[in-house]
Amino acid sequence: MSKLDITKIKNTPVFICEEELLEHNLKILKRVKDEAGVSILLALKGFSMYATFDLVREYLDGCCASGLNEAKLAHEYFGKELHTYSPAFKATDLKKIAQISNHIIFNSISELTRHYESLPKNMSVGLRINPEISLSPVEIYNPCGLYSRLGTTIENFDSSVLEKIDGLHFHALCEQNVDALERVVESFEEKFGKYFKSLQWVNFGGGHHITRKDYDVEKLIAFLKEFKSRHSNLQLYLEPGEAIGWQTGTLVATVLDIVDNGVQTAILDTSAEAHMLDSVIMPYRPDVRGAREWGEKKYNYRLGGNTCLAGDIIGEYSFDRELHIGEKIIFEDMIHYTMVKTTTFNGINLPDIAILGKNGDLRVVKQFGYEEFKARI
Ligand SMILES: *Cc1c(COP(=O)(O)O)cnc(C)c1O
Repeated sequence: MSKLDITKIKNTPVFICEEELLEHNLKILKRVKDEAGVSILLALKGFSMYATFDLVREYLDGCCASGLNEAKLAHEYFGKELHTYSPAFKATDLKKIAQISNHIIFNSISELTRHYESLPKNMSVGLRINPEISLSPVEIYNPCGLYSRLGTTIENFDSSVLEKIDGLHFHALCEQNVDALERVVESFEEKFGKYFKSLQWVNFGGGHHITRKDYDVEKLIAFLKEFKSRHSNLQLYLEPGEAIGWQTGTLVATVLDIVDNGVQTAILDTSAEAHMLDSVIMPYRPDVRGAREWGEKKYNYRLGGNTCLAGDIIGEYSFDRELHIGEKIIFEDMIHYTMVKTTTFNGINLPDIAILGKNGDLRVVKQFGYEEFKARI
């Protein structure tokens, strides 16, 4: 449970990651690692808040990066293992990536072949394959959808690449439970299992919602152990992102004004478009602490962002009492896939970034202003 005391917040908007909640997730992941004998990497794409890396590093084995900038961040602030996969590499970036990564995973055999000779000889090279099984709930987050550019299909696979690679990688899930993983692995083994003997590792990607309350952790551990028992030559990697930051904190905003042009709309100092983009593209309606669906409680409000985009609406909510100007609104579960995606669209400020320590101290680790807006244009 969140221990946030909003009277301690000096400035909004602010992302507040709660150390205790983060550690709770990390302990679950560590248990999977220890009991199943697998390695778990942090996927930086979903959670790159490096102010927490001293804590995360105690529990996980390293990071997976998607390009040079994430790789550098992992190298500078995390250490341990670094695996880098990108849908396509720029040769100049790859040279630097190769100096700091342990594994490099290519998306296609032609990419791999083009770059292979330039890699250091001790590099562990992998190929991302596409198991061609679509289970993702939303098409934009489905790496195995029709015509997906992500991963090599069995039709495009050529076993002569096995001389060059140590491992195969897939990423096929999105916010899913272990039953979905089982089906993907079944397809993976059916198509590629005959090549496992010549490999050293396989990587089951991300999208495992391991820290969600209803995730069947016992079944995952049993499943991974069973897979390992059949393929004892293979080291097994998982690389979740969302599961690390899942329900570990909030985005707190302030009501700036309330307008009533048919519906009561509270205009906040945050933005769906600029600060919580997944609420627009997934799309979903973030939970607000103390609020319910429209109509369930007495006082109904639309919550809108502070940009001039007409559609910058976070959602419609009901409250027990009237909202007031200056009051704080707490959006739940705003740590993963949020601060990695923020923009200064329309010149609005990026939210501060803060950590609520286990001792209750609220520590602001980043503040932003005009310079960040100017710097990106
Ligand atoms: C996005 C991604 C992940 C992490 O996915 P989550 O859904 O955040 O767990 C892992 N690996 C790859 C290759 C990805 O693209």
